[in-house]
Amino acid sequence: MKRVLLLAGTGEARAIARALKDDGRFEVIASYAGATSTPADLGVETRRGGFGGAAGLEGFIEDRSIDLLVDATHPFAARMKSNAAAQKIERLHVIRRPWNRHLHDRWISCTDLDTAARRLPADARAFLALGHRHLAAFQDHKASVWVRSIEPQPDHEGGRGDNFHWITGSPGSSDEETALFQACRFTHLVCRNSGGDSGYGKIEAARRLNLPVLMIERPPPPAGSIVATPAQAIDWCLRHAGT
Ligand code: NAP
Repeated sequence: MKRVLLLAGTGEARAIARALKDDGRFEVIASYAGATSTPADLGVETRRGGFGGAAGLEGFIEDRSIDLLVDATHPFAARMKSNAAAQKIERLHVIRRPWNRHLHDRWISCTDLDTAARRLPADARAFLALGHRHLAAFQDHKASVWVRSIEPQPDHEGGRGDNFHWITGSPGSSDEETALFQACRFTHLVCRNSGGDSGYGKIEAARRLNLPVLMIERPPPPAGSIVATPAQAIDWCLRHAGT
């Protein structure tokens, strides 16, 4: 039996946990950063909270006799990936493919949030498709910015300036995103190149409406083996089941 530590927080991690949980060759321990109060139940033993850097992760791996480390965190979770990459056991990073620029996309490539904020015009009406912890660069920006949140944000957590507007809702299809963009008269989209299907509606909406997209590029990938899909990660685990 191989004991797998699965660094979670993505749909990819959910798919991997689902596939391995009833496979007698594996015992899976999943780990969440603890950012959300009600994370998805993965059906396996699950811990929450940081490990305490690379050394803390190493200690956990030793204490729990982990054989395989599968890092299925978000493409922008650079610290966790780097801590995982520092481990000496067999490990794999699952990083979904980025979105590719389409012929009619008007992407402005930005290395980070500060660059995107600098390049956003003062008279813009921008949709910030960013997590709440990534809004600081737009605080007190002259542009008006909109942030979407699944839950209402009564205390405007993360974006408190007068230039911030909050929308309650979830990512939608390209038709739904187009309708939102038109209703709010957005002139720009600011987002990270997270990849995946669920967030792609906004990219298509910006394309349809010919809007510029301030696209924040990914951090450099970690050293080590990388696959793009849960199926590839499951194959990797199966290949290591008997080693
Ligand atoms: P990060 O900057 O790489 O992580 C910051 C710290 O949080 C890490 O150094 C680690 O603390 C802890 N951490 C992160 N992921 C963890 C995990 N799965 N289990 C235990 N501790 C974890 O990452 P982030 O951008 O804050 O993202 C945090 C989590 O949210 C990730 O697991 C990621 O998959 C998920 N998520 C992030 C995004 C995003 O946009 N960044 C989107 C969707 C989901 P220690 O150093 O103390 O171990």
